[in-house]
Amino acid sequence: MVSSTTRQTATDLDVAAIRADFPVLNQEVRPGAERLSFLDSAASSQKPASVIETLDDYYRRYNANIHRGVYQLSEEATQRYEAARHLVADFINAPSARECIFVRNTTEAINLVAHSWGRRNVNAGDVVVLTVMEHHSNLVPWQLLAEEQGAELAFVRMTPEGRLDLDHLDTLLTREPKLVAFSHVSNALGTIHDAVEITRRAKVAGATVLIDGAQSVPHLPVDVQSLGCDFLAFSGHKMLGPMGSGVLWGRRELLEAMPPFMGGGSMIRKVELSGSTWADVPAKFEAGTPAVGDAIGLGAAVEYLSELGMDRVQAHEHGLAGYAFARLGEVPELTIHGPKMTEGRAAVFSFSLGDVHPHDVAAILDSENIAVRAGHHCCQPLMRELGDVATTRASFYVYNDHDDINRLVAGLGRVRQIFGSA
Ligand code: PMP
Repeated sequence: MVSSTTRQTATDLDVAAIRADFPVLNQEVRPGAERLSFLDSAASSQKPASVIETLDDYYRRYNANIHRGVYQLSEEATQRYEAARHLVADFINAPSARECIFVRNTTEAINLVAHSWGRRNVNAGDVVVLTVMEHHSNLVPWQLLAEEQGAELAFVRMTPEGRLDLDHLDTLLTREPKLVAFSHVSNALGTIHDAVEITRRAKVAGATVLIDGAQSVPHLPVDVQSLGCDFLAFSGHKMLGPMGSGVLWGRRELLEAMPPFMGGGSMIRKVELSGSTWADVPAKFEAGTPAVGDAIGLGAAVEYLSELGMDRVQAHEHGLAGYAFARLGEVPELTIHGPKMTEGRAAVFSFSLGDVHPHDVAAILDSENIAVRAGHHCCQPLMRELGDVATTRASFYVYNDHDDINRLVAGLGRVRQIFGSA
């Protein structure tokens, strides 16, 4: 449990105290090397001791299958698993914890919707609206669905600045799509989309709305009731939680009308050789033995973030984004992709450095204990829009501070020296 007096003031996060909670950030990675600057939280965040200890406690003290055993260990595991569901529901202001389904990650959550809701509701000739900025996990499941059902995908264009073209959205909405699915925050460009407005317009056009919250739920206050969407998918591992933990939130009436995603144990009411009936939600969508410890660990991550306060988390990252903008702007030949201002942008920076290959940039930074990502960030269509195959990406979280950005900028100076551009 996080003490609210040591990790934040009324408005700010105490990054030194937060960093002390993360064992990975406090180890000596190479003898005598500088501390680790971990700038790849958009891929997966690090985990605080409270989450690691929660997993440890589960496996040491009450490891058991849930909803089955009439014995104390199983009862404790069940009670804590369901308590984690309530924590997650409160975190996104879901009207009911029953609307939160534990899955492995955002990808599984979106596939669940594409499979169960999609096959029932999207038919030949129907239109599904996505955007050109989607992560592959909010694109490929819809491609599979469209191919199977004979439906058509249409893509909202991007402005030159890396924002969504809402006039183009309006044009596509005149085709009365069955679904509009979009990421709240772009993992490649850091753009924060106006999810309330996009959802409002899509609902007026009669569409069901799915929001990919993989990059928003960890970083900003997200409230499904004020968003007005129908589905929200997110990953626990990007928000301080264990690998293999994720959530699909869906409106109860939609979840209840949907057929199961996978069949097996736990998701049934009654099984006959001739057929079966289904359990109520969320059990209907949690076939087989779930990742019990991981879900409980996600509950601990949610407690940690809630103690920090998501408003403060957002403000902290906004401050980092402003500083990163200013400092990266000082590096010659560096081009930041995406919005050229801190308003409406998350602390995720994709950039190119002259013609130095992003893998070389990342490898040199790694030699200085600065972890960034290089590649297409699972957004190949978006990279084509940018006219690049890959970028270097630095992304920031609660344990990062100005010093991480100063080290990144100094490291980029060294990259330029090595490649003879300085
Ligand atoms: N959507 C977005 C916007 C993402 O950033 C990611 C992860 N990079 C995903 C979806 C997929 O998340 P996961 O790999 O946890 O399924």
